[in-house]
Amino acid sequence: MTEREYRVYTLRNFASIPQIEKNLTKEEIFDIEVVGNILPFKVNNYVINQLIDWTNYRQDPIYRLTFPQKAMLQKRHYQEMAEALVSDAGRAELKLIANKIRMELNPHPAGQLEHNLPDLNGEKLQGIQHKYRETMLFFPPQGQTCHAYCTFCFRWPQFTGMNELKFAMRDTEKAIEYIRSNPEITDILFTGGDPLVMRTRILKKYLNAFIEADLPNLRTIRLGTKALGYWPQRFVSDSDADELLQLFRSVEDAGIHLAFMAHFNHPAELRTSIVQKAISRILETGAVIRSQSPVMRHINDSADVWAEMWQLQVESGCIPYYMFLARDTGAQEYFALPLEQAWEIYREAYQQVSGIARTVRGPSMSAGPGKVQVLGVTDVGDESVFVLQFIQGRNPDWVAKPFFAKYDPEAIWLDELKPAFGKERFFFESEFPLSWEDSWDDSEMRPELGVAESN
Ligand SMILES: *Cc1c(COP(=O)(O)O)cnc(C)c1O
Repeated sequence: MTEREYRVYTLRNFASIPQIEKNLTKEEIFDIEVVGNILPFKVNNYVINQLIDWTNYRQDPIYRLTFPQKAMLQKRHYQEMAEALVSDAGRAELKLIANKIRMELNPHPAGQLEHNLPDLNGEKLQGIQHKYRETMLFFPPQGQTCHAYCTFCFRWPQFTGMNELKFAMRDTEKAIEYIRSNPEITDILFTGGDPLVMRTRILKKYLNAFIEADLPNLRTIRLGTKALGYWPQRFVSDSDADELLQLFRSVEDAGIHLAFMAHFNHPAELRTSIVQKAISRILETGAVIRSQSPVMRHINDSADVWAEMWQLQVESGCIPYYMFLARDTGAQEYFALPLEQAWEIYREAYQQVSGIARTVRGPSMSAGPGKVQVLGVTDVGDESVFVLQFIQGRNPDWVAKPFFAKYDPEAIWLDELKPAFGKERFFFESEFPLSWEDSWDDSEMRPELGVAESN
C-alpha cells in the first residue's frame, strides 16, 4: 500500500492510530501523553504504515525516533507532568508546567539569542545565520515545521511554541543584499524546520529571487530536509511534485549547484520503494543528494546499522556526508553516546565499506566554536588523548589543525574536555572560551569572531 494522502497525528489524535489501539498498553499511551506534553510530537501515516515494524515496536528505531518515550524525561519531570494530567489540570496549568520543565532542558530560548545576529548596514537581520564563512543559513517562515518530528531534534523548542518562528525570514531582499555584500559566501542553506514542507509555488518564489538576483558569488543552493525519510511522496505523488522537480532543474540550469542535504537516521528509511523512486527522480534533475545524521543511543548506535545505511545510500546515488553527535539539549541524556563510543561506531562502520562510502566525516559536534570532529583516541608518550579537529570554525583558520584533549571515557561534549599535556586552554580559546559553550550555540553569530571580522 502506498499512502498518497498525508495524514498527520499529534498528541490530540494519536490514540486513534490503529496500530496504537491494537498494540500499546494503557501505560504506554499515558507515557506518550506525559512526554508529548513537554517535547513536541508529530508523526504521519507513511512513517506509521511503512517505516515502523509494529510487531516489535518497543525496540523499533523509527518508533523511538518519532514516538515520545518515558525515559526521555528525568523522573521528577515525568512525575510532575503525570500528576498534573491525572488531576485533570487545565490547559493553562499544563502549559505552565510544560514550559517550566522545558526551561530545564537547555532550550536556548528567546532572549539569549537576541544579540549578535548578522548585520546589514547596521541593521540586525532576523531569519538568517552566518557562522561559517562560505555558508549563510536561511530560514523561510513557511518552512519552520516538518512532516514528522524527531524525538532527538535540537530544534524542539520551536515546535513547542516556545519561540515559534523566532528566526523566520520574510525579507528575501535583505538576505540577497547580505550575500551581495559578503562576497565570501558561496552557499545558501535553506533550513528550518524543513524547507520542503513548503508548497512548490512558495519555495519557487524564494529560489527564483536568489537566482534572479544573479549573485556572482552564489555557487550552491542547499536544501536541508528530512522529507525523503518522512514523506518521499513530496517528490513522487504530491500534486506539486513534478513542479518541484522542475524547480530543481531550473536551479541547475541557472548554473547553480543544487545540493540536497538529506537527513536519514536509519537504513529502514531507505528501504521503501517510494523513497528509492523519490531519490531517482531528484537525481534526474541534476541535483546531488548528500546525507547526514546524528549517532544516537536507541536509534542507530551500531556500526552495522551505519555501514548498511551508507552502503544503501551510495547504491541509490546519495553521498554520505556527516555523522553528528547528539546535541546538548532536550532529551540528550536518552540519546547521547560518549565521544569514544561514537568514534568506535564510526570507525567500525567506516572499515566495513569501500572508499566509495568513505566520503562521510564524523563523529562531529556542532559546538559553539565550530564543528569539531573526533578523529580518535590514541596514546602520545604515556598520555591517552583524544585527537580532534575543526571541520568548520568560527575562525576559518582553525579548520583542519589537529589538537588534543585528555582522554575521558565519559565525555559526551566538547565543553567536558580538558586540553592534554598540561595545557591550560585549547588553542582556540583565546578567541572563544569554552565557558561560553552553554549560552552560545549555532543559532548565534559573534561578529567579532566570525566572518564579519575575518575578511
Ligand atoms: C553545519 C553548518 C553549516 C554547513 O557546514 P558545511 O561543513 O559547509 O556543511 C553552516 N552553518 C552552520 C551554522 C552549520 O552548523
